Amino acid sequence: MYIDTHCHINSQDLRLDARAVIARARDAGVMKMVIVGCDFEDSCEALGLAEDFSQFGLYATIGIHPHESRLYDNIPGAFSKLITNKRVVAVGEIGLDYHYDHSPKADQHRMFKAQLDFAREHNMPVVLHIREAMHDAMNILKYHRDLKMLFHCYSGGLEYLDRVLEMEAMCSFGGAVTWRRKASDELREVVRRIPIDNILPETDSPYMTPAPFRGKLNEPANVRYVYEAIAQERGMSLPELEARLESNAQRFFMWEEE
Ligand SMILES: [Zn+2]
Ligand SMILES: [Zn+2]
Repeated sequence: MYIDTHCHINSQDLRLDARAVIARARDAGVMKMVIVGCDFEDSCEALGLAEDFSQFGLYATIGIHPHESRLYDNIPGAFSKLITNKRVVAVGEIGLDYHYDHSPKADQHRMFKAQLDFAREHNMPVVLHIREAMHDAMNILKYHRDLKMLFHCYSGGLEYLDRVLEMEAMCSFGGAVTWRRKASDELREVVRRIPIDNILPETDSPYMTPAPFRGKLNEPANVRYVYEAIAQERGMSLPELEARLESNAQRFFMWEEE
C-alpha cells in the first residue's frame, strides 16, 4: 500500500474534484492521505474532507503557512478545539519561506514560533515547510527539539542533513526526486544517504508533479512514482519500501488503525 503524507485536496485546483481524486488514489493503492492546511479556512476544509472521507484513510493537519503569516496576529482560537479531533494528526504546514517572501520575515518568525509552542502544548507533531530559510529555521527549531518534526519537501541538501537527523526529524520527498535536473541529483543523493527510518513519501499535490506528468496537475495517485524513484535510489524492492514507509508514517502520525 502507498501513503501520501502531504497533499492539498482542499486546494482550489482539486477540491471540486475531491471525490474523484480520492477514488483514483484508492484505485492506485494509496490507502492513507494527509490533507494539509495552510490557513484557517483551508485547515477547516482539510479536516472536513478527512471526516467526510474517513473510510478512505484521510487525515488532516491544521496550520498557518508562512505565506499567510502576515494575515494573523495569533493562532486562530478555534484551532484549540480542532486539534483535539482525532482526524487531525499534526500541526502544519508551518515554517519559513524566503523564496517568495509573501509575508515579512518578522511575521513568519512570529507565527512559526507560536505554532511550535501550540504543537508542544497539544503534544502534536509538526509538518515543516522550510524554503531557502534553513539557517534561520534551525536557529528556531533548536529550542523545540522535543517536538516530532517532519521536513516536508526536504530541501536542505546534504549541508543540513546531519543536523536534521540529530534532531531525529523525518524528511519527506515528493515529485522532485523524479525530475531530471541538477537540483534533483542532489536530492537523490540525500535520498541515498538518509537512514530509511527517516523517510516519508508525499506528493504535495496539486504541485510538484512527477516526471512523467510534468505540466499537469498532480494528485495523490501519483505518489507511486515517488515510491519507485526512492526504491531505485535505495536499491530496495517496492514492497519492502512500502512496508518501511508505512511503519515510518505510523510512528510519526500515530494514526489509529482503520
Ligand atoms: Zn509546503
Ligand atoms: Zn504543501
